[in-house]
Amino acid sequence: MLMTKPTNTPPPPSPLATLARIRCVLVGTTHTGNLGAAARAMKTMGLTRLELANPRSPPDAQALARAAGADDLLQRAGVHASLAGALTGCRLVIGASARLRSLPWPLLEPPAAARLLLAEAALGDVALVFGRENSGLANEELACCYSLVHIPTDPAFSSLNLAAAVQVLAYEVRRAWQEGQGVALVEGPREVATAEALDGFHAHLARTLMDIGFATPDQSTRLLMRLRRLLNRARPDWVEINILRGILSAAQGSRRAGRAAARARG
Ligand code: SAH
Repeated sequence: MLMTKPTNTPPPPSPLATLARIRCVLVGTTHTGNLGAAARAMKTMGLTRLELANPRSPPDAQALARAAGADDLLQRAGVHASLAGALTGCRLVIGASARLRSLPWPLLEPPAAARLLLAEAALGDVALVFGRENSGLANEELACCYSLVHIPTDPAFSSLNLAAAVQVLAYEVRRAWQEGQGVALVEGPREVATAEALDGFHAHLARTLMDIGFATPDQSTRLLMRLRRLLNRARPDWVEINILRGILSAAQGSRRAGRAAARARG
């Protein structure tokens, strides 16, 4: 199936519209107070779009108390059953991580992450993803991220409170925005595939690898993560994703034809 790119091309960016396209996504948040504190942290830095992926509970009185006037962000916050739902339409996803991973993932310093988010937000929606208070981001959530951003800390005690991490990174975004830097794109604007198009591709890839006998369901998790990392690094555009999916469909088709021929012979 061909992936179609969204037809609603974003209007030319104004500086404020650029900040409005940077969404903070909180995944699996346990303490509602942290939802409010994160909203407050965002609003102080001019970020307005909060998305909640599978929070333990929706914003409540405790959240409102900690929001201290950023209630509007909480009220407008989208609540989604999964991270994928919170990332719909995003052309760039960066995950905030308190620790380094067993499978190394590309890593940015906060100022570089902020510049990249801003540069890409001039072209479309982008997301900064924060993990759970007790366990951070799961591997399959990390798999959606082009890169991670880590706030340098004492390595012996590297985990900030969730809202404190939101504050530091929102501040970096604001600083980069104020300096008017970060708009120097390394490459020209490209119609990169969105998070959901990449998810669709990876699901297709996983099915095909099983169909052609390259992978088995029980062995493939790490392999699929490596392939995720490779594709995320490349940031394929819509045409490239369609070419790759065409190749996968052809591989599945020839496998099916081979099986049918073998059955007819035997
Ligand atoms: N105990 C968790 C950390 C949870 S803190 C773990 O080991 O992963 C909640 C979230 O705040 C993290 O998932 C991350 O998104 C953010 N965070 C905390 N400290 C951070 C740091 N030093 N750099 C970047 N993000 C951080």
